Amino acid sequence: MTRTTPPRPFDIEALFPELAAHRGTCTRLHPRPGAPTPYDSSVGGPLLWPADEPWPTCTQEHRRNKGRRIADIHEERRLHAAAKDRPLTDEERERLTTLQRRHRLPDIEGTHPVPLLPLAQLYARDVPNLPAPPGQDLLQVLWCPFEAHGFPHAPAVQLRRRDSTAALDAVLTNPPLPAVVGHAGLVPEPCVLHPEPGVVEYEWPELLDEGLQSRIEEWEESLWEEEGESGESLGYDTDFAVAAGWKVGGYAYWGVTGPHPMVCHCGTPMELLLAIRPTEHGGTRSWIPLEDEVLDPTHVSVGRGGSFNVFVCPADPAHDHRTSLQG
Ligand SMILES: [Zn+2]
Ligand SMILES: [Zn+2]
Repeated sequence: MTRTTPPRPFDIEALFPELAAHRGTCTRLHPRPGAPTPYDSSVGGPLLWPADEPWPTCTQEHRRNKGRRIADIHEERRLHAAAKDRPLTDEERERLTTLQRRHRLPDIEGTHPVPLLPLAQLYARDVPNLPAPPGQDLLQVLWCPFEAHGFPHAPAVQLRRRDSTAALDAVLTNPPLPAVVGHAGLVPEPCVLHPEPGVVEYEWPELLDEGLQSRIEEWEESLWEEEGESGESLGYDTDFAVAAGWKVGGYAYWGVTGPHPMVCHCGTPMELLLAIRPTEHGGTRSWIPLEDEVLDPTHVSVGRGGSFNVFVCPADPAHDHRTSLQG
């Protein structure tokens, strides 16, 4: 089933024609719980990984000897899902206490290799705006299951690109898993994707020229006055600038720190590759697709559930990527 972003609540370019110069498009991924195979684009699904290729690990210095077990995290979510329309039983409550326990691993040093977790894989055939150099039509995104990298603390991401048409002797079926993870939100539930290309976005408000910015602000204020206490407040940044949920390309959300220039070490301004926001609700309900409403399909949440963005260099995708965490 396809997923369709509803028309925007206003024709914003009719109100502000200059915005045409700040228009971009993204592909919304619309992850939904499912059973993806290595041959599907997915979040939290099995990667198309050669059985004889080493699995990537994190060896950067940080604590990795305490955390939750992955099986416990999945069971906790199943338990909550089963009880979503009724109160938890005493037995379930007791089980949750056990599942939420953090475990300590003895004899694990600060640089002991931690197997990375598969976060997503994207085939260019499904995501037309995916930056995919010739012979690298498959992008795989993995991350360290500890939010201990950079500031603010975030997971470290590794990107792999492959030719999905290259002959594989065997696909890895049992990748190594970390014994514990630092944060449950870094463990995705398997989801299939329903990519929706061509969703229109506009540049973050603080990146527009000041005259346009202040006219947009005045318009927002008049909207809010009309709405009064009733209804939801529409806004440029929440309903027009950046689509909610998971997406490839388009514009980055800068709602916490304000815009920060993302420039590659080669001097080229970087472009947004992948953006993760846990829900498709965004600030308002305007981004919820027409077909369905799923609150938290992937269970992925970085930091305090903010927006996590991965940027790449358009001059050469092999140059180091950068990330930004908003919230
Ligand atoms: Zn790490
Ligand atoms: Zn570069």
